[in-house]
Amino acid sequence: MQKHLSFLPSHPDIALLALSLGLAFVSSASHAQKTTAAPPSPVVLHAARLLEVDTGKILAPGEVLVEGERIRAVGSSVEHPSGAKVIDLGDTTLMPGMIDAHVHLFLHPGAEDLQTVVESVPWRVILAEQAAKADLLGGFTAERDMGTEGAGSADTAVRNAINRGIIPGPRMRISGNAISVLGGHEDAIHFNPAEHISSNADYANNAPELVTTIRRQLKEGADFTKIYETGEDSSQNGEFHSNYQYTQAELEAAVAETARVGTRVGVHCEGEPGALYAAKAGVASIDHADQLSEQTMQLMKEKHIYAVPTFAIQEYFAAHAESEEGAHKEKLLLSYHAAQFKKQLAAGVPFAVGSDVGPFPHGTQARELELMVEYGMKPLAVLQADMINGAKLLNWAGQIGELKPGYYADVIAVEGNPLDDIKAVEKVRFVMKNGVVARPE
Ligand SMILES: [Zn+2]
Repeated sequence: MQKHLSFLPSHPDIALLALSLGLAFVSSASHAQKTTAAPPSPVVLHAARLLEVDTGKILAPGEVLVEGERIRAVGSSVEHPSGAKVIDLGDTTLMPGMIDAHVHLFLHPGAEDLQTVVESVPWRVILAEQAAKADLLGGFTAERDMGTEGAGSADTAVRNAINRGIIPGPRMRISGNAISVLGGHEDAIHFNPAEHISSNADYANNAPELVTTIRRQLKEGADFTKIYETGEDSSQNGEFHSNYQYTQAELEAAVAETARVGTRVGVHCEGEPGALYAAKAGVASIDHADQLSEQTMQLMKEKHIYAVPTFAIQEYFAAHAESEEGAHKEKLLLSYHAAQFKKQLAAGVPFAVGSDVGPFPHGTQARELELMVEYGMKPLAVLQADMINGAKLLNWAGQIGELKPGYYADVIAVEGNPLDDIKAVEKVRFVMKNGVVARPE
């Protein structure tokens, strides 16, 4: 979509038309978004404050006029049409719904490699439905699901059920299974190979197989492609190392295939040289990004490739390791990543916000925003990365991520002012998605 957008004419009306045509294309590629029936009468949301996330201005008070699924007006006071329902949210801050660019609806705490053996896909769909609801109530109105980890294209059903208003949940971009090499990441490599424990990923061992797998996943309903470009890190004696899985040429074939149909690639990639191959190939995001070389960082800046740090999962693993040794290793990794993150910030790498929620409880992932602040990013910059960059990464630029007339009415209210204390993002008091109240005040 980034590539599409760069072709847009400069006249705003034509640009908008082209944008809406582009979005129509995206939604037809993702089996048409049919959304919940919107409330019949206009709604005015009123609160003590409203965050303009692009400028960083706080309006006090703040109001949003919502008609159907769209925002019609935003300001300190907006028109109150006759018959409008006014929802007074008191001493809270109105802001756009948060975006999590790295989730796993099909994972839950305690799920390990053997979940493909012990949990049926229908059971996992039921848990995924609960996960989607928890994320929405936690203030996340849009998400990119980075792999069902062995549940195949079951996420297509969950996304479609959300879009039809059958179950509550965020707007979803989904990938089906991630793609990996034989014997690679998530291929049940710790078990007896003779038992043929299912991989959590779909196999592709070379460029033609990548293209075939991408086509099949798109047919099954995927919105984008997730590729494991590295396995886990294998840090020893303070040295960080992570094997790459695909060559630059192989990743280029994958990116070209997704570009052909207007979708994109996001990679799981913990370190070099995989990150450099991914950046050169032109992926949309490098997720985890524990280690990025100077050259990779420069390329990411030039090509607007987002790093998605996923600190929250690292913190959770460090706190819930099975042994002291394991906890120590996780803590070392987290501090290594935090130091790298400071370098990435200084180098001007663009960021989106993704928590990797699933292995830790759904609905609690606002913690990711706090950790990004703790490790050196300003609260406003984190919120902009989350909402503005998140909307771009999810192919909803100009539609979500800001409170502006014409945008979808994805609005939350949080206690406190997130610019003063980012912990406000954990105190969500109200959630509206697509003009429908998901969590009443
Ligand atoms: Zn993940």
